[in-house]
Amino acid sequence: MQPLAQSWQPQGAGLPRRRSRRWLLVGLAIGWTLLLLGGLWWNLERSRANTLALAAAQARTFADHVLVYRHWNAKHGGIYVEVSDTTPPNPYLAHLPERDILTPSGRHLTLVNPAYMMREIFPLEQQMFGLSGRITALRPLNPKNVPDSWEQGALQALSAGAPEISSIARIDGREILRVMRPLLMQAECLFCHAHQGYRLGEIRGGLSTQVDLRPWWAAGRVHRWGMASGALVLWFLGLGGLWVADRQLRRQEQRRLRAEENLRYLAHYDSLTGLANQSQFFGKLDLFLKQRRGPADLVAVVLLDLEDFRRINNALGRSLGDKLLQIGAQRLRVAVGEFGWAFYFGNGVFSLLLPFVNEASEAGSLAQRALAELQRPCLLDQGEVHLNAHGGIALAPQDGLVPVEVLRHAEIALHAAKGGEGERVRFFNQALGIQAVERVRLEADLRKALERDELFVLYQPQVDGLTGEVRGAEALVRWRHPARGVLKPDCFIALAEASGLIVPLGEWVLWSVCRQIRQWREDQLVVPPIAVNLAAAQFRQVNLPLLLSRILKETGVEACSLALEVTEGVLMYDLEQARSTLVALKKMGLHLAVDDFGTGYSSLSYLKNFPLDCLKIDRAFVRDLPGDAGSAAIITAVVALGRSLGLLTLAEGVDAPEQYEFLRRSGCTRFQGFLFSEPLEAADFVARLRRNA
Ligand code: C2E
Ligand code: MG
Ligand code: MG
Repeated sequence: MQPLAQSWQPQGAGLPRRRSRRWLLVGLAIGWTLLLLGGLWWNLERSRANTLALAAAQARTFADHVLVYRHWNAKHGGIYVEVSDTTPPNPYLAHLPERDILTPSGRHLTLVNPAYMMREIFPLEQQMFGLSGRITALRPLNPKNVPDSWEQGALQALSAGAPEISSIARIDGREILRVMRPLLMQAECLFCHAHQGYRLGEIRGGLSTQVDLRPWWAAGRVHRWGMASGALVLWFLGLGGLWVADRQLRRQEQRRLRAEENLRYLAHYDSLTGLANQSQFFGKLDLFLKQRRGPADLVAVVLLDLEDFRRINNALGRSLGDKLLQIGAQRLRVAVGEFGWAFYFGNGVFSLLLPFVNEASEAGSLAQRALAELQRPCLLDQGEVHLNAHGGIALAPQDGLVPVEVLRHAEIALHAAKGGEGERVRFFNQALGIQAVERVRLEADLRKALERDELFVLYQPQVDGLTGEVRGAEALVRWRHPARGVLKPDCFIALAEASGLIVPLGEWVLWSVCRQIRQWREDQLVVPPIAVNLAAAQFRQVNLPLLLSRILKETGVEACSLALEVTEGVLMYDLEQARSTLVALKKMGLHLAVDDFGTGYSSLSYLKNFPLDCLKIDRAFVRDLPGDAGSAAIITAVVALGRSLGLLTLAEGVDAPEQYEFLRRSGCTRFQGFLFSEPLEAADFVARLRRNA
């Protein structure tokens, strides 16, 4: 057998999802950043446009004022001011006879026309408000009004009909807003300029103004900083929000993954033992069956069923039962080691899967090792407890090529191991397979047997030890099989119990016996109580007392005419439930007997709580009498126990006089066995009764 290198774990599906979430988060962060940058850029642009609009409004206001002064001056045909160094007589007005006048007080005044006045005002504006302006024209009279290149372009655009030209220029390293407005020829202007051929409304030049943008930018800077820092705060808030949302999502996902992991665990593992469950077993077995490299490559399945586990569970309590299961699981895990896997199927059934087995004997020795491990005493607080088990082994490919088939054959082998007297672990073989098929056929026949009335009852007398009188009888069912002849219960009762058919079968026996008793009564016969065997499934039926009272009522039979036999093992299965059922049956007036006493590990302390009438000593103890000292000691003890509890003791299977002699001397009072009578047909039983009388 080769040790296994690979481990087999269910794969988590969380990783790709986590990765895609991370990418989504990065995408959202980038998107958020771009959105904020775009918004900030748009706002800054708007703020810049607003600042420019304000600066342009200032330039326009400045120009409007200058134009108002020009208009006022022109309307008055010019104004006279005193001649000074800064305001000499205007050479361009030399042709006017009244350009210069002398006041009577001797002051020298000269005429100042609008253009001259404006040139005087511009330096003042510059000085006082930082606004500069000048007049300019494409064909200037005064060389001072010659346009620069920008002004030339702007004047041409104005001539082409534009109402205003503005642009930002960089002059001496400063950003300057330049605005050009047209100067139109007005009626007052023609007073001086008509001789030059100028016409009303014509564009003669432009008023060029400049606004230094630095103070405007400075004023807008606070606003822009506000916007930028607002955007920064928003950016952080957004990223924080994303982080929080991501954390929440991550937590949610972790919770979901944990829940999924739990579900996956529960779907694949047994939560009590921690071993993988049946569904994983099938998955894995399927995998290995497909992976086999050749016919020599064997895959072994070992099924192990804990013996009497249910009883141990009931006797010690569920929590200790669970503890034992955990110990058992751990031991199997160690036993199988690196050569395979252990699984738990529930109800005390484990399985071992051993792939890559070279020979059947390898699987056998590993199964024996596992069994030996299970059989080691378990040390609990309450003391030592011994586990035991039976095992069934099936090997692929010879015992099947698909998982269900291999498992079914392992089950058949287990069933054989449990039913047989010999080996605790058995391999599946063809003969077992045929037996299993036979069992299936027999089960189908048994189903029909009830409908076809193939069952009948024999009555085995139970006699008094002293007088030899018949004091009772046990009803024993037989099956007249159409092909196999009359079958004894050994051939079909276990099958009926396994298939659940025992319930209708047992009910049929009860009806049949009660009808027979009524018949005997009608025939004026005095019949002692007849004992009917109750199977475990019947005894555990909650409506058993109800059913019995219905049968008794409908057949008109008194309860004291009927005795019920329940095996010791059935009574010990669930002590409390057994007690309450027995009490109910006793209340009805039925006789109650413990069948096969001595074989079921009775809890003697409980026995006294049960309302019983009779202990039936099992045939196994009678068989070896009087030679076997052990059996003799048991018989003596059971009789003493029965006497102390006020119960009848009845020995079963008495078929030799020495046995009878020993039992009688031991104090046993009732006997049933071939020495007195075999089970009899109803008519023969009546004949025997009559002989009695
Ligand atoms: P049991 O209740 O212990 O019945 C006694 C068995 O011992 C009967 O076997 C009987 O024929 C056999 N026996 C009696 N005296 C002797 C003897 O001197 N020597 C030997 N070798 N055997 C003797 P049987 O009839 O084959 O029944 C076997 C078992 O089948 C019964 O054991 C009982 O557990 C079960 N059984 C029989 N009839 C019914 C039934 O109607 N319902 C249920 N649930 N089980 C039944
Ligand atoms: Mg019996
Ligand atoms: Mg018996």
